Order: sequence, then structure tokens, then C-alpha cells
Amino acid sequence: MKTVFAKSRPGREGVWPEQPAQDVSAYIDPALLRGGAGTTGLPDLSELDTVRHFTELSRKNFGVDSNFYPLGSCTMKYNPKFTEYVAALPGFAGLHPVLPQLKGAGRFCQGALEVMHESERLLCEITGMAGFTLHPMAGAHGELTGVMLIAAYHRDKGNKKTKIICPDSAHGTNPASAALAGYEVVTIESKDGIVDPAVLRAALDDEVAALMMTCPNTLGLFERHLPEIVAALKEVDALLYYDGANLNAIMGKMRVGDAGFDVVHLNLHKTFGTPHGGGGPGSGPVGVSQRLLDYLPISRVVKLEDGQYFLDYDYPKSIGYVAPFYGNFGVVLKAYAYMLRLGREGLIRVSENAVLSANYLRKRLEDYLEIPYNRTCMHEFVASAVQQAAKGVRALDIAKALLDKGTHAPTIYFPLIVKECIMVEPTETESKETLDRFVDDLIEILTRAESDPASVQAAPTTLPVTRLDETLAARGMVLTDDM
Ligand SMILES: *Cc1c(COP(=O)(O)O)cnc(C)c1O
Repeated sequence: MKTVFAKSRPGREGVWPEQPAQDVSAYIDPALLRGGAGTTGLPDLSELDTVRHFTELSRKNFGVDSNFYPLGSCTMKYNPKFTEYVAALPGFAGLHPVLPQLKGAGRFCQGALEVMHESERLLCEITGMAGFTLHPMAGAHGELTGVMLIAAYHRDKGNKKTKIICPDSAHGTNPASAALAGYEVVTIESKDGIVDPAVLRAALDDEVAALMMTCPNTLGLFERHLPEIVAALKEVDALLYYDGANLNAIMGKMRVGDAGFDVVHLNLHKTFGTPHGGGGPGSGPVGVSQRLLDYLPISRVVKLEDGQYFLDYDYPKSIGYVAPFYGNFGVVLKAYAYMLRLGREGLIRVSENAVLSANYLRKRLEDYLEIPYNRTCMHEFVASAVQQAAKGVRALDIAKALLDKGTHAPTIYFPLIVKECIMVEPTETESKETLDRFVDDLIEILTRAESDPASVQAAPTTLPVTRLDETLAARGMVLTDDM
């Protein structure tokens, strides 16, 4: 496929309503002016060429708009298009971040500020936290922000804390965030798939700043000992961090704040109406308990007595800025529209369906694949291809064979604590027919792994690119547009 630049022919152009020519050059510093028409470096294309180019490109992409995408730990779910419509409304899409805020000076962004204020309020209601910041731009960014808040709390109290505990079933970003914030990471082993309070107690001392828990954890299991865990941490004045990236497993069923957690981050791009993947933009708001409110990043959106909204920077104990301006406002806006559209009952059904879908797949597959922790799971479950691997067909081969069926591969070899791991997250948005087809496809592959293992090891055979040498693909990449 040629690039748009190769397709460019001088003088070709699209159709756009004639605009009366406006000479604005008098208002612009000449040093900032481009050389005039034709000097932008952009290709000259007809409208049809442009439309066909991008349609063809989009068809080469794999996405939830075209196929099932059961990528565990990533929540690749269908997100409704109405949120995109709302985010594209000109009053929002055309906003500039430094427009005057208050009505007296200009009325342009009161609506946007209201969206931020109301979104924080709704997220507080959903999670039971005392306050939220919408600034962090991804889940991992939210984690780093959260750990910085924890550090600020301990610094303020004069606590000498050097360690953060992460269970081995935590998402990989948890220990990474703790280390990035300067903490020593202490890993504790999970028992029967979840944190064991006795193991945790053995790792606790006065230098522990916090425990970071992914819940449900990366095995898709709910942490059943939360009350004992919370109590143990309070004894050494350690804080509790809840990785709530996958809130679509517990939303409306349990509130993180009520359970005694001090910090939670959410992934709006997993749970709340923004597609995940594709490199962003994302949004990882962080909620905090009362005792961390003072440290939240600036700015914070407040409601004045006269009903106006205002961005307040006057928080002397704040950890400061974590993002330029106000984070990814468009993602917050989509989440707000999503929450309003689904309402209380709808958000609860999201969790119920996500958990139901995962358990349905787990039950249908348990006779064909080993499921190491085969009990009620949350939004995802982890299977293992150890039996198949013993005969030469590995999790990787099974994942590749699924590509030939038109399904995206599930996550494999993560979490690290399960050998030949296959991690499946169906999400709440898939129909029973799609889930059944996935199971039937997988059963066919597993049957073939017995009868004709070579055919599974050779997959994929129907895609433009077959099995790659992954090291060469990364280290000796050959870039070409000739496909
Ligand atoms: C996706 C995910 C993250 C990281 O979120 P990013 O937006 O990709 O940085 C962290 N924790 C858990 C449990 C996740 O599923």
C-alpha cells in the first residue's frame, strides 16, 4: 500500500464549501508565517483518494469495531459512539485551555468546568472516595500520582518510609510506579491466587509506606481478605492503594473507599466509554480518602457559592502539576456522557455482565484447558496450556491459531505466575453468540493440537504477515509501504 505522499499529484484537491478569503496576515508576526500555499508539505489528493486511503488503512487494523478482542488485562470492549459525538460537540472540541474561566470575563468554559466537577462527584460516588483528580493521563500515570500522594502524606507526618509492598499478582505497572517514585519494592507471594494476610503481616514493618493491590488481581480473582489486610496496614500507618483500572468488575458492587483504601486510580479508557489501545489518549483519574485531599495535584475545580465553577491553584500542600493543563479533557467528557447515559442501574449491569461473560467462558472451557484457579472469577480468567505444551503446542501457537479464526489473541504469558498462561477478558459488551463462537474456535484448535499439531504451530496462515522471527522484527526491522 502506497503512502499518501506517493499518491500525491500536484493540484489535486478535495471539495470544501468556498470560504470568503480572509487576510489575517496583518495580525500575525511575519516570522511565524509560512511561505504560502503549497509549502505545507502536505500531499495533494482528491477527496476519493483520501477516503479510500484511510478506509484501506483502517481495514488493515484489528479493532473491536471489526472483531472480538479478548485481550486479558486490557479491557478491549466496544465503546458506544455517542460518547464520540458528545466529545466532538464544537463547544467542547473548540475550547482553548487558557480561556477566561468565570462568567464575568467570558462564559466560554463554565460548561467544561461543570463537566469536570460533576465527573469528580460521580467518580467519588461510585468509589466512595473523598476527592478526585482528573489530571493523570493513563493508568500508570495515575499510579505514579497516587504513590506521590502517599509519599507527600508520609513526608508531612514525618514518617520515615522506604518500602512499598506489591503482591506477585499485581499488575506489572504497580511495582514499576512504586520504583519510579523512589520506593524499594517488596514482592509478596500470593496464596491460592490471592493475598494471604499472614504472608502480608510477615512483610510489614514501620518502613512500609503502602500496599499496592490490583483488585481484581491479574488472575481475575477478587481479594477476599480485604478487611484483615486493611487492618494490618493501619497498624503501621501504611496506606492502601487500590489499582482500579478494571473497575468494570466491581462497579456498583463494592466501593473502594468504604473498604478502607486511601488511593484508587481508574482507567477511564477501560471502564468508562473510551476505547483502550491505539496509544491513547487515556485518562487515569485518582481518587483519595479524606487524609490525602490536601496533596492532590493542582489545579482543582471548585464550585463557588454563586454556582460558578473555578480552577483553584491555592493548595500549598499539593504535589503540584502532573499534567499540562487539565489532563485529557476529551476522555473525561466521554466518561461523563457514559456515566449519565448508563445511570446507576446501567453501571451496575456493566459489572454484572463483565463478570458473567468471563465465568461463562471459564465454565465452557474448563474441560478443554487447564484453569489453575478454577473458581468464580471476576471480569477475566487465566487458563494454562501446560498440557498442550507438553506435547509441543504452546500458548503462543494457540494464540496465533486464533488469529486465523478472525479473533484477536488473548493475553499470553502474563501474569508470570501461571505457566503457559492464556488470559481471557471477554468484557461486558460481547453477545453470547460471539462468546460461543470463540469457545467453538478454541475447541477446534485444541482438538487439532492433538490430531495435527504442526498445523497449529504454523499459524497464522491467512494473514498478510505469518509467524515472524520476533527478535528480528524488533532488532532488524525492514520498513516498507509495499504491501
Ligand atoms: C491497564 C492496567 C494498568 C495500566 O494502565 P495504562 O493506562 O495502560 O497505563 C494498570 N493496572 C491494571 C490492573 C491494568 O489493567
